[in-house]
Amino acid sequence: MLKRPFIFSVLVLLTTTALVSCGKNESNTNIEGHYELPDNEFISGDMILLKGDKQSDLSSSSFSGFRYYETRPWPNGLLPIEFDRKISSARRNRFLNLCNDVWGANADIQCVPWSKTHHGDLKIYLTQENSGCWSHVGAAPPHMSQTRRMNLSSFGCWSNRVILHELGHALGLLHEHQRPDRDQFVKIFSENAQQKYKYAFQLLVPKTSNIIQVASAYDFQSIMHYNSQAFSKNGRKTITALPEFRQYENSFGRINRLSPTDHNTLKHIYGPK
Ligand SMILES: [Zn+2]
Repeated sequence: MLKRPFIFSVLVLLTTTALVSCGKNESNTNIEGHYELPDNEFISGDMILLKGDKQSDLSSSSFSGFRYYETRPWPNGLLPIEFDRKISSARRNRFLNLCNDVWGANADIQCVPWSKTHHGDLKIYLTQENSGCWSHVGAAPPHMSQTRRMNLSSFGCWSNRVILHELGHALGLLHEHQRPDRDQFVKIFSENAQQKYKYAFQLLVPKTSNIIQVASAYDFQSIMHYNSQAFSKNGRKTITALPEFRQYENSFGRINRLSPTDHNTLKHIYGPK
């Protein structure tokens, strides 16, 4: 059996939250199109995960107060991006700038144009031809192809918010509203969700041997939080803040910048710049 490159590590990060302004409402869209998933992968909302990544039989109470992430960071924080030939140079530059200037503001990561000579098959292949905005989560395990996929459809995915959100997945981050202690902060109305996306609201509790834990307050302002009507089938809310957190009701999932916790989390996974 092949060993995974990173094993259990615990990172403790004490954070404070700061109120930031609301951004444009961007819905999270689904994975559709022509990418055929290998047998060992599954879709959760706009993420592609490995089947071993989710272990829902663990008690969520023991995970209270923690964010969870894949522990498959990109080697040396380097993300080679192969842009599909149909993606314009303006979009390529914007994507690279958001990666390097925003996510990379204080974390040791770098997005660079992919080159076969320098990077082999280690890359994110970015397309805009498929439906929806979606991404693999983190780098690939060593026994799989090192090429990861991301799609930013020309129809609705090229806002700063969506690009930053999908880049968060590519860097290895999961959803804030799927962290194991989320029921203390939000209420999920899965009855309002489209049937095929109900699983996008399930708790994600990865294997304890395969995660990075970051202790942090629940972060309504995270770029990794869905908005209140994500995947709604009837226009009603699928996520609401609990009454004591009502001040966040209209802003979560609609903010188009990273929160302080988003920045700090990435810095702890990849190291400071
Ligand atoms: Zn997502």
